[in-house]
Amino acid sequence: MNDEFIPILPEAFVRRMQALLGPEAESFFDALHRPRDRGLRVNTFRITPEAFATRSPFSLQTLPWIQEGFAYRRPDRPGLHPWHDAGVYYLQDPSAMAAAILLDPQPGELVLDLAAAPGGKTTHLAARMDNRGLVVANEPHPQRVRVLGQNIERLGIRNTLVIQEKPENLVRRWPGQFDRVLVDAPCSGESMFRKDPVVRSAWREEAVARNARVQRKILAAAAELVRPGGRLLYATCTFSPEENEQVVAWFLETRPDFRLVPAPLPGSSPGRPEWGGRDDLVHCLRFWPHKSPSDGHFYALMERAGPAGSFRPRPKSGRSSRHVRDEFRPIRLPGPVAEIFREYLPGVPLPEWWEKRGDLWIALPDDFRLLGDLSGIRSVSKGVAWGSVQGRHFTPAHALAMTLRAAEVPNRLSWPAGAQEIDDWLRGKPLPAPSSAEPGWVWIGVDEFPLGWGKISEGQVKNHYPKGLRRPVE
Ligand code: SAM
Repeated sequence: MNDEFIPILPEAFVRRMQALLGPEAESFFDALHRPRDRGLRVNTFRITPEAFATRSPFSLQTLPWIQEGFAYRRPDRPGLHPWHDAGVYYLQDPSAMAAAILLDPQPGELVLDLAAAPGGKTTHLAARMDNRGLVVANEPHPQRVRVLGQNIERLGIRNTLVIQEKPENLVRRWPGQFDRVLVDAPCSGESMFRKDPVVRSAWREEAVARNARVQRKILAAAAELVRPGGRLLYATCTFSPEENEQVVAWFLETRPDFRLVPAPLPGSSPGRPEWGGRDDLVHCLRFWPHKSPSDGHFYALMERAGPAGSFRPRPKSGRSSRHVRDEFRPIRLPGPVAEIFREYLPGVPLPEWWEKRGDLWIALPDDFRLLGDLSGIRSVSKGVAWGSVQGRHFTPAHALAMTLRAAEVPNRLSWPAGAQEIDDWLRGKPLPAPSSAEPGWVWIGVDEFPLGWGKISEGQVKNHYPKGLRRPVE
């Protein structure tokens, strides 16, 4: 099936863009009627971009603003390749990859992604921090927050805390705490018109103004969460000045303690001061589909006045919160449980702090204490589930498998991507066990990238790949 449709653009959108772009509008519309450049970002926890480019079966184009990102086109379909299931990459519009480059989080920092699902930017921020420090990924929408958790798990990221809160609630709890905050705001999604007919048919001129009101509210909360001297990145995937330059102009007028930081990137164009009525809006960035291989994005990188060091006010305790929903009791691993984990994974250092939910042991990110007490925050996940322990009986969690490198697991089986075994595995079928295999849990890989756990018994590898992730059986 040819899914490179020719979009029929909403008439009012065409009129608006013609008025805004003048003679440039022609090349803009031409680009929207050509096949898209799609993007793929390599998960650097799994493989280096250089090694990926050599081993990848896809025709990749490099991108001038990001080393670990590539553009590709149909007929390549990396989303159907088993490396996708193994978290070797994340499919992401090339211009969306600029967010983590601009915000530039450092290992050890405390970073907040305020509107995080499905997790493209969260997983990129975490990868750039090398699992050191903490990325708090917030998503208020209950269905979307689940997908966010699945993507974090698939990419094997360890230093995230996934929460489901309104930004205003976080202000009460963590004022001035974060080194860097990303607001990838809900928007009218005009840059998605080519790929998503639903966004295109749902677009209304009135919705632009409605979105701008929501964006201002989220940004106002975000400003309170940035520490003095910290940075705030505002992003949208739409073209309308009302949701971009005009929101930033309003923000800078209401928050004179913030200034725009010039951060030009190759492939981007400057913001348009005349669309927001301030000269400094030239420091915003726009990615246009007719100027770079991308769908399009808007960015404004801002800095809060204050000392440049890592000063951060003391976190507030959650005990007095009226919104207590969740008690948080980090504990150390009891000796017998540590012994079981060491037996299975002798080469993997055991994290220091854990949470126990029933029989399930969850390893907390090394730097979770950057936020103090987490009681009262509606958290969805806080690190990596290792598995359930009942007496001497251990059932490893899928999330644990996805954080491990092949060399760290003594008991493992791996097949190449084209093997029938991999296709069968992803459809939930059992596999024949090699005659030399010991009974018990075995880590399954594709080209040595993780695909979960199997259990060997009676000459078979029983399939424990989570049901919700399996491909349909033909
Ligand atoms: N950053 C995501 C990524 O890179 O995968 C995409 C984020 S998407 C553009 C915007 C998200 O904001 C949606 O998931 C939406 O549910 C969420 N959202 C909607 N209203 C919100 C609000 N008031 N505060 C925070 N997030 C909100």
